[in-house]
Amino acid sequence: MSRRIRKSEVRKLNNYWNKKINSIEPYVAGEQPAEGVKVIKLNTNENPYPPSPECKKALESYDLADLRLYPNTDAMSIKEAAAKAEGVAPENVFVGNGSDEVLALVWQTYWEKEYDQDKAVLVPEISYSFYPVYSDFYSVRCRKIPLKDDFSIDWQDYADVPNCGIAIANPNAPTSKVMPLEDIEKILKANPDSVVMIDEAYQAFAEDYVSAVSLIGKYKNLVVVKTMSKAYSLAGLRVGYAIADKDLIEGLIRARDSFNSYPVDRLAQLIASAALGDREYYEETRAKIISTRKRVAEELKALGFTMPDSGANFLFAKPPLPLKAETLYKNLKAKGILVRYFNKPVIGDYLRITVGTDGEMDEFIARVREEIDYVKNS
Ligand code: PMP
Repeated sequence: MSRRIRKSEVRKLNNYWNKKINSIEPYVAGEQPAEGVKVIKLNTNENPYPPSPECKKALESYDLADLRLYPNTDAMSIKEAAAKAEGVAPENVFVGNGSDEVLALVWQTYWEKEYDQDKAVLVPEISYSFYPVYSDFYSVRCRKIPLKDDFSIDWQDYADVPNCGIAIANPNAPTSKVMPLEDIEKILKANPDSVVMIDEAYQAFAEDYVSAVSLIGKYKNLVVVKTMSKAYSLAGLRVGYAIADKDLIEGLIRARDSFNSYPVDRLAQLIASAALGDREYYEETRAKIISTRKRVAEELKALGFTMPDSGANFLFAKPPLPLKAETLYKNLKAKGILVRYFNKPVIGDYLRITVGTDGEMDEFIARVREEIDYVKNS
């Protein structure tokens, strides 16, 4: 008779590592080709356009001698620029080394380290795959809530379930679907004793969705996490931030100061605040990506792909049979185009395709068309 294998029984990979490191299944990031290798990279939702020209200007006038000094612990220049951009006060902003770090601190700050059924953090079954990893790493029980058949998240599934917290990406990844703000508000109302985290990594690309930041003054249990990796083209800089009531922010500061009190370096503070200040460039870049996304979605649909409406800088698309997602992923890779394929239940028939420049997407469509013609004729 089969029996569940307990974590403590997991075969040790290394005797010097503790039980957690021996048993954990780390997050697997999308493939990063070696420097200098030429590919069309549509696999990690990076922005195809360079950061704001203001970043370069700021860097050129920077005195490197300042690097001998530690940076401002709160990344004050980013805090102030982000507060202005988001329409909140600086005391409502917490800055971290990429939103991944901010998310890790959210897990450590608000959610209970107890293996008790009622103390689970609720996450959508299909969502950012780092959430279950943080849960495991910080020993927070995680309960996965299935999506509806159309990949939507039903707020009612988060209304009557005992929990110690809720983590939802909106737009969700990798599905690209947007949950209406009214539904987020219903989840907040139904869970006044838990912190609800809305990860808005892709919010800038969701046209009709007003950010949950608009609810911050109203709900003391809401934390919204944002990144500068996507809409600001700064994935290589590693800056993300959280927006919440000031008491929630104070908790994140306590956690940060128990781990690494200078997470955002001086150059990152300089460049990120310059990018946040250039609203015109931000609006221009996101509009270009939204317009390319719409065009590519139509072209893929004309080729027989199906996909949910995307509110992100990527499409989550299912190729027309008999073309399989995995085959298409492999064949595109062989032709120098990287997209993301998840060999997992529920989403294994889909590819996640980052929106690149118009030229990159033309090349992508041309290669996809070749694959479709090939399977049709064979
Ligand atoms: N949240 C979601 C939903 C993401 O897809 C990503 C990017 N992989 C992140 C957060 C992390 O972004 P970063 O650490 O680059 O800010």
